[in-house]
Amino acid sequence: MNILITGGAGFIGSHVVRHFINRYPEYRITNLDALTYAGNLENLRDIESKPNYSFVKGDITDSDAMEALFREGNFDGVIHLAAESHVDRSISNPTAFVMTNVIGTVNLLNAARSPWAGAYEGKLFYHISTDEVYGTLEQGTGIFTEETPYDPHSPYSASKASSDHFVRAYYDTYGLPAVISNCSNNYGSYQFPEKLIPLFINNIRHRKPLPVYGKGENVRDWLWVVDHASAIDVIYHNAKHGETYNIGGHNEWKNIDLIRLLCSIMDRKLGRKDGESAELITYVTDRAGHDLRYAIDSGKLQRELGWTPSIQFEEGLEKTVDWYLDNPDWLERVTSRAYNLN
Ligand code: NAD
Repeated sequence: MNILITGGAGFIGSHVVRHFINRYPEYRITNLDALTYAGNLENLRDIESKPNYSFVKGDITDSDAMEALFREGNFDGVIHLAAESHVDRSISNPTAFVMTNVIGTVNLLNAARSPWAGAYEGKLFYHISTDEVYGTLEQGTGIFTEETPYDPHSPYSASKASSDHFVRAYYDTYGLPAVISNCSNNYGSYQFPEKLIPLFINNIRHRKPLPVYGKGENVRDWLWVVDHASAIDVIYHNAKHGETYNIGGHNEWKNIDLIRLLCSIMDRKLGRKDGESAELITYVTDRAGHDLRYAIDSGKLQRELGWTPSIQFEEGLEKTVDWYLDNPDWLERVTSRAYNLN
């Protein structure tokens, strides 16, 4: 099996690459990544010398480069994670999100189609997406299923929704074997510290303010990134083509409750007095168009393909805090951009 993983130098992508490299030493894994601010090859130091791994620096918005890569690569499958992924950045620069998430995905779909040339047996285009495409839910009621109509509100979620529609359109129109999964918020090691959990861990370390949007009432479902990687493995190998699978942890947290839990874990780990980190909480103006609540039903994936998350949130969060505290050099280099200056 010869698989192209896009965005493999990012947060989730690096876990997916690591999972496939270690679990399937007989597979060839090619990691394609443009190494934007979010892409960091240091995330893959432990597996980069494995014989079944190779890296290609390339931009999915470059259609000629994608066509050439697929002509030469002879890939059986694609797991597509490369994206602009941060909602706040999508509000300040939406066009970058259209370019990478929409045009980039269409370039990959086109590039995959031509060498496979309709001989689709054993081939798969697997598109990784988000629960944010479904829009927002009332507090305390409702849950996203695979049938929930799309209703994106941020430029990020609109671009991901658009890319999902293109993947389905290529399945329906050209018969391109395709699968989509929509996952809730991931947390874990190697996440760029602009996202809530690593940002707050880093700020608490440096006794910097913890900016909480609005009143911190927004609710998100959280899944350990290692469990997302295992779900991607199960879906890649067993999914019915043309299907969509929701992935989540059945683990809803109000932002402010999650932040207070994180603060208390950090107080304990850093030997600070209980409540010290929570004093850093600073309420800031709410994000424009901020979705109130996401909750995701991953029952289809559990029933049909037998996947379940491996750990509880509190345990995963402890492991995550330990990883960032054990890897201060990674945090320093990422926040100073030292990894990305050449
Ligand atoms: P990330 O921002 O950490 O990583 C994205 C990676 O894509 C980076 O390595 C970056 O260099 C690369 N990339 C960006 N633009 C590119 C381009 N034009 N060409 C090639 N590579 C490019 O993102 P992430 O959090 O790891 O998310 C990965 C995927 O999972 C995304 O598709 C995202 O929408 C989806 N997702 C993320 C979450 C989450 O909680 N983070 C949840 C559900 C789905």
